[in-house]
Amino acid sequence: MRRCQDPPPSWRPNVAGRRSTWLRRGGARENAQLGADTVMEADRMTPHQLLGLAIDVAEEALAAGELPIGAVVATGDEVVGRAYTQERALNRRLVHAELLAMTEADQGLGWGQRPEPMILAVTLEPCLMCLGAAMTMGVSEIWYGLESPSDGAGGVGSVWRPQQPGEEFSQVPTVVGGVLRQRCQELFERYAESATHAGWRRWASALGGLPVRD
Ligand SMILES: [Zn+2]
Repeated sequence: MRRCQDPPPSWRPNVAGRRSTWLRRGGARENAQLGADTVMEADRMTPHQLLGLAIDVAEEALAAGELPIGAVVATGDEVVGRAYTQERALNRRLVHAELLAMTEADQGLGWGQRPEPMILAVTLEPCLMCLGAAMTMGVSEIWYGLESPSDGAGGVGSVWRPQQPGEEFSQVPTVVGGVLRQRCQELFERYAESATHAGWRRWASALGGLPVRD
């Protein structure tokens, strides 16, 4: 174990003590005291580092004309899956970035115990489908940049009550939002400026905090 030497700016102390970021453990949103003294396990990438990688993937998405939703999956210090959304290229609905990244990780790791906790980092709050896939995949933590008010499912775990909870597959990941949030929001601003599809331009404008235009 070691202390994180370089916490992201959003995790640095503020005047009230330590700045809080969003934490939903088991879906129950609370103010996590994740400050400069946050303890990180050795050989684990920080949220700042992994979100930075997800943003790199989202930049590739923008260059390809897709929404800037990029995702990476890591175990320990190893990235085992990375993808951006393919909805436009494939003209399909289920090819979300997180699902594709987790599918790549699943293909590489196969069934069995994971040697390290599995982390999913993504530029936009995951939807219900991707949250469910993360649970099935055994992801223990999800870190995302920008909240998605219209379809984000980060808080669903707080109301999910299986009748007979199992030890493994009923575990809702810890969900942390707001990591590198401004950089992620800027991605959607840039998408909105050039998008030709009216519906997606409106959605991206709202996410980017821009005036919504038709
Ligand atoms: Zn999704």
